[in-house]
Amino acid sequence: MTDTPVPDAVNTLQFARDLARLEARLADAAGEWLPLEQQSPAAAGFLVLLHELTEGTDPVPAIATAMRAHDRVYENKREHHEASEEQRRIIEEEVAAEEEVTKKVECPFCGVSAGMNCRGTGAGGGLRKRSHRDRFRLARSLNDAPSEPGGGTASPRGSTTAGPASR
Ligand SMILES: [Zn+2]
Repeated sequence: MTDTPVPDAVNTLQFARDLARLEARLADAAGEWLPLEQQSPAAAGFLVLLHELTEGTDPVPAIATAMRAHDRVYENKREHHEASEEQRRIIEEEVAAEEEVTKKVECPFCGVSAGMNCRGTGAGGGLRKRSHRDRFRLARSLNDAPSEPGGGTASPRGSTTAGPASR
């Protein structure tokens, strides 16, 4: 303990202020209250390390505790990220499968022929990633009712006998 400078009173005060400010910044960056993707594992670990050391914990157990704090946030983030990636992939596949069916018909909304992407309605036009809703519905209606003759359901709701829609 020969080369440890003993700080004078002013420096001690300054040190305490700097430490408090650093801890506030780290707590902010660690962001336990924030969504996982915005939390910083490094800030969380550093913050715990400072706490441990200022509490007088020996360096090795202090570092071990800090590493656990870091790893916990890190792992949570990783799992969260993987889960969202998986979710995104599933949705993309669903959309792709939907589009495959939808694009088999001509779009009644924008008029593109089967197999083509729908056109946007904006000034510049452009191709749409997803088909128009009308096209989606049309494709489904053709798909779901292959050769069903119209109006064969027996569910008498009223006394009036509605004729077949011949318009
Ligand atoms: Zn369209």
